Amino acid sequence: MIKEIQLRVDPRTAHFIDAVEEVVAKQEGIMRRRLRGVRIIKRSIDARKQRVMVNLKVRAYIDEPMKDDYLVPPIKYKRVKGDRQAIVVGAGPGGLFAALRLIELGVKPIVLERGKNVKDRRLDVAAISRQGKVDPDSNYCFGEGGAGAYSDGKLYTRSKKRGSVDRILGIFHQHGASENILIDAHPHIGSDKLPGIIENMRNTILDCGGEVHFMTRVNGLKINESHEVVGVKCVTGEEFDGPVILATGHSARDVYQMLFDAGISMEEKGIAVGVRLEHPQHIIDQIQYHKSGGRGDYLPAAEYSFVTQIDDRGVYSFCMCPGGIVVPAASEPGQLVVNGMSPSTRGSYWANSGMVVEVRPDDVPKRFHQHGILRVMRFQEALEQRCYQMAGNSQCAGAQRMLDFVQGKPSKLIPPSSFAAGLQPSRLDQWLPQFISHRLTKAFKLFGRQAKGFLTNDAILIGVETRTSSPLRITRDSELLHHIDVKGLYPCGEGAGYAGGIVSSAIDGERCAEALVNAQFTMHNYFIWELP
Ligand SMILES: Cc1cc2nc3c(=O)[nH]c(=O)nc-3n(C[C@H](O)[C@H](O)[C@H](O)COP(=O)(O)OP(=O)(O)OC[C@H]3O[C@@H](n4cnc5c(N)ncnc54)[C@H](O)[C@@H]3O)c2cc1C
Repeated sequence: MIKEIQLRVDPRTAHFIDAVEEVVAKQEGIMRRRLRGVRIIKRSIDARKQRVMVNLKVRAYIDEPMKDDYLVPPIKYKRVKGDRQAIVVGAGPGGLFAALRLIELGVKPIVLERGKNVKDRRLDVAAISRQGKVDPDSNYCFGEGGAGAYSDGKLYTRSKKRGSVDRILGIFHQHGASENILIDAHPHIGSDKLPGIIENMRNTILDCGGEVHFMTRVNGLKINESHEVVGVKCVTGEEFDGPVILATGHSARDVYQMLFDAGISMEEKGIAVGVRLEHPQHIIDQIQYHKSGGRGDYLPAAEYSFVTQIDDRGVYSFCMCPGGIVVPAASEPGQLVVNGMSPSTRGSYWANSGMVVEVRPDDVPKRFHQHGILRVMRFQEALEQRCYQMAGNSQCAGAQRMLDFVQGKPSKLIPPSSFAAGLQPSRLDQWLPQFISHRLTKAFKLFGRQAKGFLTNDAILIGVETRTSSPLRITRDSELLHHIDVKGLYPCGEGAGYAGGIVSSAIDGERCAEALVNAQFTMHNYFIWELP
């Protein structure tokens, strides 16, 4: 008999499968030898009460041998013939998952990526911290794997479509991610593992007959007389023909400008802006696990999540990275913007998260209104330039201790930090836009009351965090997913304004591929793919 059972055990028991088997045998009232094996299929930590517990869902094999049953069955990718092709611009999660789905549906993807392959990209990413040099085509945002490659690789999402989420996690697992991502309530891959997984995905695309072109920035769309996109032009001088999935992410400001100049309609949308907040991880462990001694041997680095409303705007923690590091994530020279990532072990001394304030288009200062629908993007860009200037035209970011920020005091000394490009004391309380700094101040006071020890001068704020979501929406038909005015163009992923984060961008990539195949190839008597 195979039986699924819920358990609630202490962290040490959860850590050892033998100990879990003991609990299962006892709970089921059976002799230990009748239990031939136990597989953990769901795991979450419950730290709400003083005693931290782990909730497990397990599959118990009673009186029958354990099966090597898949939690999510792998997908069989077949070689495509090449008589039907589609262009995928951008090899981030949106683009890669779109390409893999096109292959499943029998269409050859031609992936065009402005940056380098994920391994060569590593050197350019390191050069930002070491030499303060930002390559506009190869950085933390651009290059194979997109913004997701050197990210934290947190794979939780607010998407309610469990089936779609499981499918995406399954594909990551199939390409080398640990089985834990299928089990944990808050799955996480880690920046050390992601590049290898992305490389495996690229190899699937190539092995199945797709094409991947690096250092091939798209700078124009080919539009026919019926106002339909039929291909793209690249800075290399090459042109590629086919319907286009545009998955260029939310940092590609030149792409928004290109669409704007071509008269392709977009809508402005709000973003969130603030700082990266970095604490020593042990402070967060003490707060979340209610123990002065920290997390012990069997609990992972603790996470947190804060959200509130201050003066009619949301203020919240964003992209929290336990045991992580803060990274310089600018995608153009002359700009400074920070983000966070963590390795698979989440073993660094620090914990960081974005602490951001909702910014609506009308909140943007008046001097940006001349840019019309591009005003939020230009405001975001100007803030990153200001941050760079405040850092003495370098990537050595401005920082302020948390309590000093709240009390409006300068910080003479900045404690050690994970930020490899270096930090210097800076009056973030004075130079951040006031509508952001005053809300952050109020929110930090509140969060400090909610979590004793959180508001502390052992924590620092590093400026500035702006790349929280897309500043524009490239409007598309809600069902057919092509651009609202221009057929043949499928705005996709985070840059299109329809996703946020790795998993939702990947889900959107798959949906765009399905919509494209349905619209572009069914009329030629190919097949109809049913949209989910
Ligand atoms: C440091 C960091 C950490 C993050 N951590 C997490 C996390 O833990 N969990 C999470 O869910 N999300 C995280 N994110 C956000 C996540 O990475 C994005 O939400 C996700 O990558 C968006 O996917 P996308 O495919 O839509 O766009 P992107 O990943 O931005 O990919 C866009 C791709 O298009 C390419 N491109 C742009 N313009 C052109 C052009 N003109 N021609 C050709 N190619 C072009 C870019 O080079 C890039 O590869 C993080 C982001 C960063 C920067």
